[in-house]
This record gives sequence, C-alpha cells and structure tokens, in this order.
Amino acid sequence: MNSLSITIAKDVGFCFGVKRAVDIAKKAAETYGKVAMLGDIVHNETVIRDLERAGIVVYTDIDDVPADMPVLFRSHGTPRSVWDRAHERKLTIIDATCPLVTEIHKASQILAKEDRTVIIIGDPGHDEVEGVASQLVNPIIIADVDGARNQEPLRKAGVVVQSTQSIGNVGEIVGILITKAYDLRIINTICTPTRNRQQQLVELARKNDVMIIVGSFTSANTRRLTSISGALNKKSYQVQGPDDIHIDWFKGASSVGISAGASTPEEIVQEVAKKTRNLVL
Ligand code: SF4
Repeated sequence: MNSLSITIAKDVGFCFGVKRAVDIAKKAAETYGKVAMLGDIVHNETVIRDLERAGIVVYTDIDDVPADMPVLFRSHGTPRSVWDRAHERKLTIIDATCPLVTEIHKASQILAKEDRTVIIIGDPGHDEVEGVASQLVNPIIIADVDGARNQEPLRKAGVVVQSTQSIGNVGEIVGILITKAYDLRIINTICTPTRNRQQQLVELARKNDVMIIVGSFTSANTRRLTSISGALNKKSYQVQGPDDIHIDWFKGASSVGISAGASTPEEIVQEVAKKTRNLVL
C-alpha cells in the first residue's frame, strides 16, 4: 500500500468540561472511598470503567443511592427534580456540571425572565437538554429542521443551544425559526471547545482522503462529528478504538485525518493513529 500521511486534529482528548468532571470524580473517590454517580459521567466506556475501578458506583435512580454515599452530578448537568430529591434526602452532592453547561442554564433563565417561550435546539432525551428543560416552564425542544418547520408561530421566543450541536444544523433551524417568531432572541450556547473541534474537523474532512472519528457510539457529540464529516467526505468512519479499523478503508488513499469526540481519551486517539500507521506499512 502507498505511504499514508496521518493528521490528528489539534484538539483531541477530553474537552475542558469532561477533564474537569473526571478529575472531580477521581478526587471525590479518593476522599470518600465510594461515590455514587447517576448514569455515566461522560459517554465513554473506557473512562467509566476506570472510574468504577477508582470507587465510583453507578446508579440510575437518586432514591437508590445509599444515604451515607455522596452523589456526583455529571458534566452535562442534572434535572432540577434530581437536585431537589438529593437535597430532600440530605445527600452530599459533588457537582461536576461543566461551567459552560451552567452558562446555558443561565442563558435560558434570562430568556424566560424576558417572558419568552424558550426553545432549546438539541437532542430530546439527552441529559444536557433535559437538565436545561427541567429549569423552565413548557420549553420547546427542537432537534432538526422538520421540528422547526412544524413549530406553531410564536410571538416572543428565545433560543438556547445544546453545547455540542453542529453549527450547520443550528443555522438551518434558526433560519426557519425567524419565519415563525415575531420577536426572536438567540443566545448561541454552542461551547467554544465544540466550535473549535467542528472547525478543525471541517478542514481535515476537506483535505484528507479518509476521515476517522474516534469515540463512543453513545456519545452525541462524536456522532455529530461523524455526521458533519460524512457530509463533506464520504470516506468518514467512526471507531471506538483501534480494533474497529479496517484496512479496506485506505485503498487508494494517500491521507487520513483523525478527529475525536470531547469524551474520548487522547490515548485512544493515539492508539488509532498507531494502528492505522501499522496497517498500511
Ligand atoms: S462539550 Fe463543552 S459544554 Fe460539554 S463538557 Fe465539554 S466543554 Fe463543557
């Protein structure tokens, strides 16, 4: 096979919010021994296994958390009802919510205080979106252009955006919403780490013959990066790790770009690059 140039995006590895949450979780486990976590702290199986080894115990319901075990709230934010229940049960709360997610909560409150119907552009059911929605009265969640097209006209509305949304998707939805609302205010809460990754991904997808996106299939932001890449470069593949790589992908290719979701550890990205290099040698 021909020699292959491999370019890894500048920003790979945990984003600032995920790194912070993982550090908080590890420190809490050192301090308390066992710490409860409601669901996965980040959408990455390797990270979750490491944390479980360190003493983090995953529960699905706040009522199942033992009374003497502190509970850690995840980087994507936590619904108001869960905060309330944890307070009622007098549990020790360790808050690992990303400060940029907290900014979305604040932005949505500003819009609500202006008497606007708050629209969240994001994935229904995603932890972050549910967390923002739980602080609002009758918010509207719009995931795609069809959702925007089906929206009834509104007099006064405000938009916030899930931190990891694709800039292109949001632009299309907002383009439709301005035809639906008379008074529309948009606070663009896509976070800076996400914007940077998307920009770098677009450049790599345009320049390279093959694109590999590294990250869990349960990670919304990784799937989004894969979809952005796929729209620009048909030879875009998502992998969870080096074992998912197929030599056939590189037939006739001379360059490969590698990007990764915000919750993918950098070591896995480096392993994917190494395996790719070895496969084509
Ligand atoms: S993707 Fe952005 S908002 Fe989400 S955890 Fe990372 S830095 Fe925070």
